[in-house]
Amino acid sequence: MLKAAWTMFFALLLTTTAFSFSDTSPAAFERQASQLRTKLTDRGFTVIVERPFIVIGDEPDDRVALWAKEIIRGTVTRLKQDYFAKDPINILEIWLFKDEASYRKHAKEFFDDEPDTPYGYYSPSKKTLIMNIATGGGTLVHEIVHPFVEANFPDSPAWFNEGLGSLYEQSGTVNGHIYGYTNWRLRGLQNGLRTKIVPTFKAMTSMTDGEFYREATGTNYAQARYLCYYLQEKGLLRKFYKEFVANAKTDPTGYETLQRVLAERNMTAFQRKWEAFVMKLTF
Ligand SMILES: [Zn+2]
Repeated sequence: MLKAAWTMFFALLLTTTAFSFSDTSPAAFERQASQLRTKLTDRGFTVIVERPFIVIGDEPDDRVALWAKEIIRGTVTRLKQDYFAKDPINILEIWLFKDEASYRKHAKEFFDDEPDTPYGYYSPSKKTLIMNIATGGGTLVHEIVHPFVEANFPDSPAWFNEGLGSLYEQSGTVNGHIYGYTNWRLRGLQNGLRTKIVPTFKAMTSMTDGEFYREATGTNYAQARYLCYYLQEKGLLRKFYKEFVANAKTDPTGYETLQRVLAERNMTAFQRKWEAFVMKLTF
């Protein structure tokens, strides 16, 4: 009886350990980096630990170092300053492939993936960000947002996760804070507003993740982005994020929190105001 109980106890302990414990100590990063260096010997890759990531790239080593120390470190520092207390749950690798040929070849070889985007993507199951870095750093910054949202706001609906990621895909630093600029998604949104296919915020924020990603109108990412952009311009984006996280149990879509943070009594009137704001933006 006693023996059975102990066996059960240890079985439980092992199970719990296997499912909840992820070693993200500095030593674990170094271990994984050195395994990667061994695996990639003589293949022209540079491996750099830049916690909470390991950066691997096949551009010249000083270029890989520049991405790691400037873009990745800078983005992480500024995102953490404004939004995220916790690092990603797992050690994540960021692969920076030097061109589209390298990106497609290695996505297949190392991850058995055939990317449906020319830019890059985040694979939570493979604990990896896979980038065609020849397309620039925008997608890299966008994808870095996702594992931080995952760790800090695991119940975030897709609309907010993608709205925030998309906001920072064209960004810089203003007054020491990360700041999103207008970008290429504006044109599609303005066209959608002209042809009146853009859903209400009530409808957009209530979409399931599947509905959001299906992009029935092709405007979901842009609408979410320019809602975040509007909040940023009003100085309300960080406040919205904090209140959304705090109230997600009672308001999982964020719609009520949005209305409260905007202090708008009439959301139909707000939508018209936002549309006029968007139509005046330029890129
Ligand atoms: Zn995304």
